[in-house]
Order: sequence, then structure tokens, then C-alpha cells
Amino acid sequence: MLINSFLPESKVNGPGNRAVVWVQGCSMNCEGCFNNSAHSYTGGTELTAEQIFMQLDCSVITGITVSGGEPFEQSFELEKLLKLAKANKLNTLVYTGYSFEKLCIEHNSTLKLCDYLIDGPYMKNIPSKCKWAGSGNQRFLKLVDGQIVNNLTENEEYSRSAEIMIDAAGKITVTGFIEV
Ligand code: SF4
Repeated sequence: MLINSFLPESKVNGPGNRAVVWVQGCSMNCEGCFNNSAHSYTGGTELTAEQIFMQLDCSVITGITVSGGEPFEQSFELEKLLKLAKANKLNTLVYTGYSFEKLCIEHNSTLKLCDYLIDGPYMKNIPSKCKWAGSGNQRFLKLVDGQIVNNLTENEEYSRSAEIMIDAAGKITVTGFIEV
């Protein structure tokens, strides 16, 4: 799997305390995308799902979020990573620029490993209604066995929050959602 970046813990990329993997590579080119550095398939770091998983501390996190870039454009490795997470009792959340309905046709086996999906392209002119989504067209969906069991988009009180992380090497990572 081609990876853009990784955080061992975050509280602003989905509910609870989560590890976050940003994949490298996305063909969607949404105007105003928050993560242009993750578009190209020529950058990033190639890691297997097992190598990514070895960096997680399952004793401090409750879930894993996979964002991007576009995770479903690397669906084979995505599926392996989600399987490892589920086997270790972590819940799974995937951000995707594709709609749930399109993924149902092409990636049903991967969807079956997602507990939560935030779907749809980023549309900068539609304000978000959900604390976890970038724009208002995107839905925060609870899935069970690849099917929508709850649309949680407007369930939680809307708020925005971000984190600033500085690792041991002094690398600064800013993540989450900031009103602009
Ligand atoms: S799908 Fe996500 S990563 Fe890709 S261009 Fe759209 S917002 Fe950016």
C-alpha cells in the first residue's frame, strides 16, 4: 500500500481514539482538496498492510481510520489492512471520494470490512453538517456487513476541531477540520 502519512493516535479523524493512515494516490482531483500532496502515485512510502499494522498500539486505540488520497483505489491492500484491524477488535472508518452506491457495485467485499464510511467527493461550496466530514454532500454512514444501517451525518453535535502533533524528530502534523 502506498502511504502518504500515518498517525498512531488521533481524536479528530472519527469517533474515539484512532490510528490514522493517509494513503498516497487519488485520481479524483476535487477542487479545494485539503490534501493535494496525496494525489500523485509517484510519492509516498510503500508498506504492506502488516508493516502498517505493526506500527499500531492496539492497547490505546479503539479504531483505525483510512483516509487519503483515495483508499479504494488501493482496495486490495485496503482490504488486508481492514481485515487485520477487525481481527484485532478495532473498528474501521474509511474516507472515500466515491459514493457508497458505486462502491457497492465494485468493492462490496471491502465495504463489508468497514464499520463507518464517509463517502462522496469534497465539494468546497457545500458546508458540512457533520463534524467528521469535509463538505455537506458527504455522509457519515454506519455499515454492517456492507450495508447502511444508520446515517449518522447529523446525529452528533456539529463542531470543528484539529490537532497539532510534533513527533520526536520535530516533524509537525496538523490534522482535523478547520473552518476557513
Ligand atoms: S477524493 Fe479526497 S483526496 Fe481525492 S481529491 Fe477528493 S478530497 Fe482530495
